[in-house]
Amino acid sequence: MSNFCFAPFIHRYIDTRSNSLLCCAQRKMQPPLELKDWESKDYQRIRNSMLTTDEWLPECGECKEREEAGATSSRMIYNRFYKNLGEPELNIINGTSYEVPISYDLRMNNLCNLSCRMCGPESSSQIFKEAIKHPHLWPGTKTKENYNNMNVEYILENAENMFELKLLGGEPTVQPETKAILQRLVDVGNINLRLNMTTNGTNVNANYYDLIKQFKNVFIQVSIDHYGPGHEYIRGPAADFPTIWNNVKRIYEQDWAGNLSMELAQSIQTFQIFDFWKLKQEASIQYPWLDDVASFIVYDPDMYSPRFIPKEWKEKAIDIAKAEDGYEGYKHIFYLINEYETDLTHVIELKKYTEMMDFARGQYLKDYFPYVHSLLQDIE
Ligand code: SF4
Repeated sequence: MSNFCFAPFIHRYIDTRSNSLLCCAQRKMQPPLELKDWESKDYQRIRNSMLTTDEWLPECGECKEREEAGATSSRMIYNRFYKNLGEPELNIINGTSYEVPISYDLRMNNLCNLSCRMCGPESSSQIFKEAIKHPHLWPGTKTKENYNNMNVEYILENAENMFELKLLGGEPTVQPETKAILQRLVDVGNINLRLNMTTNGTNVNANYYDLIKQFKNVFIQVSIDHYGPGHEYIRGPAADFPTIWNNVKRIYEQDWAGNLSMELAQSIQTFQIFDFWKLKQEASIQYPWLDDVASFIVYDPDMYSPRFIPKEWKEKAIDIAKAEDGYEGYKHIFYLINEYETDLTHVIELKKYTEMMDFARGQYLKDYFPYVHSLLQDIE
């Protein structure tokens, strides 16, 4: 079955509200699953569908699109991981013979020192504060929402059966729950699991790195969206690009007990669509030991997504990329954005919202992405 995915059999994604999805790529499921729902009817229905149909599930649209564009999908990654595990026997009730999830993607809480424009209060405590101060910037924020209520006991109990742990946030290096889980893994001797962490790279906290560098198979993604000050615009006033860029090297130079792989993760939105590839060009010169610069287009919120920009903008971005040697490695990105029709409502919303956000933050688009700023001036 070409669309088969092992994620529903082995993996749990849990967000900062303690809701669970099949994986980070899954499009919405209503209502979301809960942490202890591993054997629920919904899960069993999905596993059964995976085993009995060739069709893509409605939840799996992002993987479908990425694969059709020739890009690597989460499905491909989970399927590889399952094979590396020795292919434990599958079952519909609780996934595999381990009977519990063996791979976790955890966003423990929203503690974070950055305020990325495409993020939200559910993943950034700084944005949560901004939403309280400027409610018009983050409409719909529930000021009483609790983003810090994950019960880690269930995860701690299963620490010995964990083969993969992904940590995001918020910012995992400042999450006490994350440290508790890492400490438990060390205590039970499970230091050979595949440990993936995505960090914003703003600091190299010694306490945290003393813990994580004991693991034997570590993969770290540092989120960097643009080479230079554009990163500070996208990620908010607290993002200092020189510090973050230097921290990529500091992380790499820690005294790692085992294998370390590192890459940069770039979220491509309308702001950098005309020069996003420069990050990879600089990284390959300055940090040739990085494994990759993984680039993803922003899907949500729609206004930031380069999928909906005018056709002429897309063509211009391709022309510039070709002229500046940035096209070949990113054909899949241009393929993806060309799959969508222009929708000016999203571009108009971006213009309006960016003006409000810039005013509140004292960071102005024209100072960071002057070309995009000039294009937006002509949009009405
Ligand atoms: S196909 Fe993709 S979206 Fe669907 S469960 Fe697998 S990894 Fe998740």
